[in-house]
Amino acid sequence: MNQIKIGTFISECRKAKGWTQNQLAEKLGITDKAISKWETGRSMPDLSLFVPLCTLLEITLNELFAGEKISDQNLKEKADEILMEVITGWLGHDKWIPKENSSARNYVLEVSHVSKVYKNASTKDATNHNAVSAVNNVSFQIPHGSFVGIMGASGSGKTTLLNLIATIDKPTGGRIQINGQNIVDMSETETADFRREHIGFIFQEYNLLDTLTIYENIALALTIKNIPKETIRKTIEDLSEKLNISSILDKFPYEVSGGQRQRCACARAIVVNPDIILADEPTGALDSYASKQLLSTFAILCKEYQATILMVTHDVMAASYCDSILFMQDGEIKATRNREQESKQTFFADILKMIEWIEEKNHDLFKIVSP
Ligand code: ADP
Ligand code: MG
Repeated sequence: MNQIKIGTFISECRKAKGWTQNQLAEKLGITDKAISKWETGRSMPDLSLFVPLCTLLEITLNELFAGEKISDQNLKEKADEILMEVITGWLGHDKWIPKENSSARNYVLEVSHVSKVYKNASTKDATNHNAVSAVNNVSFQIPHGSFVGIMGASGSGKTTLLNLIATIDKPTGGRIQINGQNIVDMSETETADFRREHIGFIFQEYNLLDTLTIYENIALALTIKNIPKETIRKTIEDLSEKLNISSILDKFPYEVSGGQRQRCACARAIVVNPDIILADEPTGALDSYASKQLLSTFAILCKEYQATILMVTHDVMAASYCDSILFMQDGEIKATRNREQESKQTFFADILKMIEWIEEKNHDLFKIVSP
């Protein structure tokens, strides 16, 4: 992916419209600092901004990714080719490694008809006109050893859904089972124990304890479990080698890079052998190099430790590492996509098309309800 070319292209299109960075930022509802970062090739627009940005600049998604205008109609195929080339440049080549048939595997997570309604605390209105239906009748299952992504625009209910599965919050309806155990009806003490023993967490803000070294952070979860010190040391050393963090075990979190901190968070999450690892926008604060490393780490967790991972992400590149994607909108799962036999590149293109499709469907709905 040639971010600099894309940035220059965005800059040209913006200037052709006669807009300043500030004006474009205003139209997109973001800061002009973000625009400046795109235009200098330091970052890519957020997933949710692809379509509005293309609409404003009157360019296609293909043109955005190619970083240039594609003029002739007969270039439609060429455009797809360019897109594929760009994606391959970004993701590298990969070979599909078949997993065992998912229907033959056990489901680690079963979510059935789950809803979450937030009643606005500030309202005294008994009819709850201000209630927000953050998650609405959602059902899906995740087989053991799979890597599943949840995508959707901001406010579509991704974090709420993840918190319900994490036992951090309770649904207002439906059932959630982790390895056959219903987590909805548990008491608070039971959920706290369950969370510690069965769920691993990786968030955008690393959640490592600053006063402990990386080693101590990883060991913490095992110390609570009364495991002998020597066993702990051996486990952590083996794991660190696999995740390429051996050399930083004695450092403190603030002494290492964001990417390294996230790999430590992975080590800490997997070390207790949880039923499922939940990750909310784990690449959100990382540059693309560190993101790729983190995603490769996830792949190692799945392959070598048979981890099951559920990851919320905005990022199409991150999503294309998954085995399947759930697309959320307005608290509902609108579509799912499995990476069947596809390479990451094809899956990436597939996800982009899906996002476009969901956005378009949205416009159509809007047209129908508009007078
Ligand atoms: P996402 O993670 O996809 O951005 P969220 O799950 O954070 O979305 O939010 C989904 C919807 O629920 C939004 O409309 C949000 O405003 C609302 N919401 C989230 N948390 C709360 C809360 N604690 N109280 C009231 N409304 C909330
Ligand atoms: Mg969120």
